[in-house]
Amino acid sequence: MSRPVLRIRTDRFLANIAAVRERIAPSELMIVVKDQAYGHGLEWAVTSAVQAGVTSFGCYDVRSGVEIRRHLDDTEQEPVRIFAWATSTDEEIDQALEHAIDLGVGSAEYLGRVLARAKERGIAARIHLKIDTGLHRNGLLPEEWADTIVRVRASEAAGHVSLVGIWSHLAEASDAEDDEAREVFLAAIRTAEQAGPTPAALHLTASAASWWRPELRGTVSRIGAFCYGIRSADGPDLDGILPVAELTATVVEIVGGEAVIGIGSFDGLPSTLAGASVGTPAGGRELRRIAPNTAVVAGWDGMALGDEVRVFGAGETGESSATTLAERIDTVGEEILTRLTPFVRRLIVD
Ligand SMILES: *Cc1c(COP(=O)(O)O)cnc(C)c1O
Repeated sequence: MSRPVLRIRTDRFLANIAAVRERIAPSELMIVVKDQAYGHGLEWAVTSAVQAGVTSFGCYDVRSGVEIRRHLDDTEQEPVRIFAWATSTDEEIDQALEHAIDLGVGSAEYLGRVLARAKERGIAARIHLKIDTGLHRNGLLPEEWADTIVRVRASEAAGHVSLVGIWSHLAEASDAEDDEAREVFLAAIRTAEQAGPTPAALHLTASAASWWRPELRGTVSRIGAFCYGIRSADGPDLDGILPVAELTATVVEIVGGEAVIGIGSFDGLPSTLAGASVGTPAGGRELRRIAPNTAVVAGWDGMALGDEVRVFGAGETGESSATTLAERIDTVGEEILTRLTPFVRRLIVD
């Protein structure tokens, strides 16, 4: 039985990056490559983005940051910044110092550990301090911000740290809440400026807010989804943005006028997606049932073993996009992509 294929289209990735950069300029793109570049593959994402001139990467953990640095070592490029925002262990802090990875710091406890490791190693840590602007998901509280800035500026003078960024993450629940978050963010920047230079990287927005709310953009925008062509759940299609990944499976059996294709729920295709439209050589057809290793699609005239069925993609053959599939089960397109198991073969296309 032939394996399902996730075709990764580099041309579309580069076009999306260009569209995003044009939209957000002069804010700089920090491309987010967490979760193995949203299931597309980290090495491919890093080497392709660097080719497009991207010089800033965002990831969750230091281990991924080190992996990004390794992929970059094979390319000759401008200095590239890597930002890892998860709270790390001391061992990971050491690795970050060694590989020049910027750290997102959102608590006094973590700041203390970063400063201690930097002092001990004799390497200045590059940090982006996170202010909690209302999401309550890691971040210094406004009431502890001023003291933290004093502490950071003192360590800066001693050569242990460099405050290169200030950041936060938006809830994106309502424009009004995001506006309030922005006020808190700007106040935090002003406090930092009173005791030293303005950090170069000021970042608050991810895909949706960066695209739709120019007034919220900082000097840097952290963007993942739109670069991969994943639109927001319940959001519109975007000019110049197309899905990078297309998932196909082939017809492995024809039974009673229906086509059985070689992908199932154990490969990461949620069984609750039954009823969605998939692309066949004759256009869109209903995906009727999803079993552990196979799925059943409404038949078409002339269907044959080996025919390719597009489970998701850009809608060119009647299929849904990953986000349209996700909306059926109340989740986001990212989840459809990151769930696919290694049984799904990744095929990079230029
Ligand atoms: C995932 C993530 C992003 C990117 O969000 P998108 O909506 O995919 O652009 C940015 N910042 C943080 C902290 C994130 O976790």
